[in-house]
Amino acid sequence: TAHASAERESRNMVDSAGGACPDRQVTLSVVVPCHNEEACLPLFLSAAAQAVREIIAAYPGTTAELVLVDDGSTDGTAVLLRRAAAGDDGRAAFPFVVRWLSLSRNFGKEGALLAGLDAAQGDVVAVMDADLQDPPSLLPRMFTMLADDPTLDCVATRRTTRAGEPPVRSMCAHMFYRLMNAMSPVVVPDGARDFRMMRRRVVDALTSLTERNRFSKGLYAWVGFHTAWIDYPNTRRAAGRSSWNFFALVRYAIEGLISCSTVPLAVASYIGLLLCVVAFGATCFIAVRAAMFGDPVAGWPSLACIITFIGGLQLMCLGIIGRYLANTYLESKRRPNYIVRDGNINVRDAGNTRF
Ligand code: UDP
Ligand code: MG
Repeated sequence: TAHASAERESRNMVDSAGGACPDRQVTLSVVVPCHNEEACLPLFLSAAAQAVREIIAAYPGTTAELVLVDDGSTDGTAVLLRRAAAGDDGRAAFPFVVRWLSLSRNFGKEGALLAGLDAAQGDVVAVMDADLQDPPSLLPRMFTMLADDPTLDCVATRRTTRAGEPPVRSMCAHMFYRLMNAMSPVVVPDGARDFRMMRRRVVDALTSLTERNRFSKGLYAWVGFHTAWIDYPNTRRAAGRSSWNFFALVRYAIEGLISCSTVPLAVASYIGLLLCVVAFGATCFIAVRAAMFGDPVAGWPSLACIITFIGGLQLMCLGIIGRYLANTYLESKRRPNYIVRDGNINVRDAGNTRF
């Protein structure tokens, strides 16, 4: 029957999920980093429950878990997670097990995401935001794509529009992707979201990368694997507000560039070389002119301009080198990307080797 074949399909997916533990019970994990999301969480939980119910209906035998990571929230997020895990939020029973972690402070989205990936046990793992900007209604489609195509390792999403976002932010984002893709050996599509569903082998590859400065979009591209893309228009946050301000995004962009590419270092040396050539040309020109027409006094303004220009360039290049040096310093300390304070998951058991 269709039912039985769907169930077999689901088991096949488990079998082909590469590297899965034989005693693994969970087919699907949904990992969600949450920072001050008390306004969005109830909406998210019911939307996710709806999506997971659809998946279980299509693939009976699927077991699901929700891994919620409270990234040092200062509002009622932790209380909500605890309540959801205890199942006493007054709603119909969830179609998934709710597992949660509270980090010891705000480690940033990347840290929270990694904590969730370390803790996730599923053969297939989805990562998404809690604010419903990543529509949970896409989950069934993503799951089906993975189930139907054993050659596919990963289903990722990108947004086709940035409606509802300040134009300056969109412009900077476009510029960032163009720069990023010109500089790094791997391509991150413009508009790529951190919303994706991956097989276990991809998750294992991601969690085996031990760097402290994590730029997920770059890491997804770097680990490779066969990825299919789903496009969807941008949606606004369901409630609450974005934890990112403009400067945080600029910092994120610079960190991303530096973690994915060493091209800025090369650019620094090219600028140096170019200036040497220009200086040599100028010297010849001035020498010849002095020999042929005498040497009129040129005045100090042009000299002052050149000196400040060169000084600025030197400092900028030193700054670029400094960023790489600082990164090397931070990496060499080998501190963990996150510290767990509380939760109903024992991260050590979940295969986390970071502690
Ligand atoms: N987030 C997090 N730690 C942070 C900032 C954000 O875990 O320090 C989570 C947040 O709860 C949300 C996701 O990351 O689930 C995306 O954050 P947000 O919506 O603020 O970012 P935006 O969509 O504006 O890029
Ligand atoms: Mg958001």
